[in-house]
Amino acid sequence: MTLSISNIEKILHAKRFGDYNGSIETISIDSRSLQNNKNTLFFALVGPNNDAHIYIEALIDKGVQNFVVSHIPEQLANKATFFVVENTLDALQRYAAYHRSLFKFPVIGLTGSNGKTIVKEWLNFLLSPEFNIIRSPKSYNSQVGVPLSVLAINEMHNLGLFEAGISKMNEMEKLEAIIQPTIGILTNIGSAHDEGFEDLEKKIKEKLLLFQHSKLLIYQKNKNIDLILSSFPLLGVRVLFSWSFADETADVFVSKKAMDDKTILQIRTGKDHFEIQIPFQDEASIENAVTCLMVLLSFKYDQKTIQNRMEWLYPVEMRLKVKNGINNTTLIDDSYSCDFQSLKIALDFLESQKQHQTKTVILSDIFQSGLSNQELYAKVSQLITSNKIHRLIGIGETISEFKSQFTNCITYRNTADFFLHLKELNFANETILIKGARHFQFEEIVAALEEKTHETVLEVNLNSISHNLSFFKSKLKPTTKMMAMVKAFGYGSGGFEIAKLLEHHKVDYLGVAFADEGISLKNAGITLPIMVLNPETTSFSAIIQYNLEPEIYSLKGLNAFLQIAEKRKLKHFPIHIKLDTGMHRLGFSEENLEELITVLKGNSFVSVKSILSHLATSDAIEHKEFAHSQIDLFERLSSKLMIALNSKPIRHILNTSGISNFPEGQYDMVRLGIGLYGISNDAEEQKYLENVGTLKSIISQIRTIQAGESVGYGRRFLADKPTKIATIPIGYADGISRHWGNGLGFVTINKQQATIVGSICMDMLMVDVTKINCKEGDSVIIFGESPSVSLIAEQLRTIPYEILTSISQRVKRIFFRE
Ligand SMILES: *Cc1c(COP(=O)(O)O)cnc(C)c1O
Repeated sequence: MTLSISNIEKILHAKRFGDYNGSIETISIDSRSLQNNKNTLFFALVGPNNDAHIYIEALIDKGVQNFVVSHIPEQLANKATFFVVENTLDALQRYAAYHRSLFKFPVIGLTGSNGKTIVKEWLNFLLSPEFNIIRSPKSYNSQVGVPLSVLAINEMHNLGLFEAGISKMNEMEKLEAIIQPTIGILTNIGSAHDEGFEDLEKKIKEKLLLFQHSKLLIYQKNKNIDLILSSFPLLGVRVLFSWSFADETADVFVSKKAMDDKTILQIRTGKDHFEIQIPFQDEASIENAVTCLMVLLSFKYDQKTIQNRMEWLYPVEMRLKVKNGINNTTLIDDSYSCDFQSLKIALDFLESQKQHQTKTVILSDIFQSGLSNQELYAKVSQLITSNKIHRLIGIGETISEFKSQFTNCITYRNTADFFLHLKELNFANETILIKGARHFQFEEIVAALEEKTHETVLEVNLNSISHNLSFFKSKLKPTTKMMAMVKAFGYGSGGFEIAKLLEHHKVDYLGVAFADEGISLKNAGITLPIMVLNPETTSFSAIIQYNLEPEIYSLKGLNAFLQIAEKRKLKHFPIHIKLDTGMHRLGFSEENLEELITVLKGNSFVSVKSILSHLATSDAIEHKEFAHSQIDLFERLSSKLMIALNSKPIRHILNTSGISNFPEGQYDMVRLGIGLYGISNDAEEQKYLENVGTLKSIISQIRTIQAGESVGYGRRFLADKPTKIATIPIGYADGISRHWGNGLGFVTINKQQATIVGSICMDMLMVDVTKINCKEGDSVIIFGESPSVSLIAEQLRTIPYEILTSISQRVKRIFFRE
């Protein structure tokens, strides 16, 4: 659907500047998307710490013509058309609500604390034989995600599935106006950790607002909710349709019977009785399945169809994962779904995470676009072209038929056929997006292309890094620059992937310890300036060649650098001067200052880009005085240097805990390290940070030993009663300290703590799972939410830094974005 410019003005309540007369075909909020073009309307959203107005200039250079803004950035006034609104997010939401109102088909709105996305994905699977469904991609359920989801509705759809997620009061009203659900589903409401709500009742009421104009509401019967429903005047729902495991007065009463690896559900509704089977045993999956069943019943599906389809429900994987592949490839694993909307998202993710110049997409047939195949593959072809994909490997009957739509495309009729030709495809040095509908079983392709390592992985949540960065930015003055420390392989969490993310967030600098760390970032395409903290004299040539910026901390280093600079005829090459103000590690001290000035004065080979120092006690309140004395000395020495050199370099002295404890010392820039990775040394502050890394493994074997039997080397654990022992394939060679064994540490298995028993071995450790319901192959969390890295550090009498950076390189890092 295309809208005229004047219409857009009205819908957005905007004042227009500029007179572009084209049409708008796509909406974007992501400056990185290669799908942005002259027919894009870009909404410059403003978050608490992120302001997309900074990307506008670059977008104009890329051909984008139309922007929704809260102000027109300086000097861009006549360069594009601007729709100026009070609040760009409100405008986006109004635009989506208008778009939604143009369609009259049934729309199912889902909310609840848990299960929304799974129920939505399952309903899509169960209903897709009869309907052309438009649904929220992944878990796009926020104030931004919902409008983007709804804007994808087109004329061919005849059923909508949209989820709404809120975290505080007064958010649901807005989402309701956009989704306008005709049918409501309340999934499991939960009771835990809802900081945004005063109490459970307020939370339920707020969530129910999604259904204020729905004709039907499906929910699990429960006294709390019934009470609220009966006394909540806002709610105009006409029909309530409830289910229960316990309350026989519910419209649908369900009893469950566990079988080997499935569950039989006995369903009673009115006078009807029947049974269905689902391939799950856990409580959450059973509840989600019953919710889906309720929809099928309300849509009047017959029992046979319900039985046939429910039997095939499957685990839902919602995250895009980045993995290392064979032959220096990077894989983006999205092997569980394939529709047009999520393809767009995956291609954006591919662009933001590409590590190699070459981009390949392995794509299955696409379903439920709401378009004819002809139109669909024409659009897919456009997407593939605008995203500069070097080769497309299509798998499936339909995509094979439309092969001629694409350039540089190979197709296979099915996945087996692809495997027959795998060798000839010569995957190497490229980033590969693997995206397929479930039944194509692309997980086998991922398994074949994945670099083979053991089952232990460190999962790194990129969203959490963004969140933590924003948190620390919010503590600073808006003008203070940010250097993000990515030394030691991003504190063990990954170098390039994190640097790439930080580059997008427009941090001002990256900091690394050694030149080779900087070189590998530059080689991977990072363009941010990079400061090298510990440049060795032998690396100066490489530093110059790769445009890295050395920290200079001694006269000896300075003279050595100047010699090379002179030989290479450098002009104003950026260097950073480190002052020693009390740490006594590296840096010029007061007595070298005069000589430093003499050497630098009038020297045009180098230019002092910044002056820095480092606090020794920024995390220790008892040494507050000392930190202040360092800041004072820094002020004095740096001022002297600035006056003598008659220049104004960037000054910086604060690390993470410095930002929290000495904000008055923020000068022009700060150097954020451990906080980015989700760790604070202050318990209160810790609550505001998100966990970034989760170290995971699996259970290799379980056995029960008898009283008197022992576990591991040296028999350091002796059982005094029958004890169930699980072996986990992670040991001190992976970076787990041997001191953590013998009853000190624990891991988490199925949300319960399992104590480490006996000595930790090189590649394995054993835990006591006597009281834990678990089986071989189950997932094990070594650290993450719990135990946290901080807790482990405390147990081992060290600091979180050491725990994080000790994780060995043989542990595979997997990056994901929710
Ligand atoms: C590592 C480092 C930082 C970052 O410290 P965090 O405590 O991790 O924030 C800042 N400055 C210098 C000089 C560093 O070496």
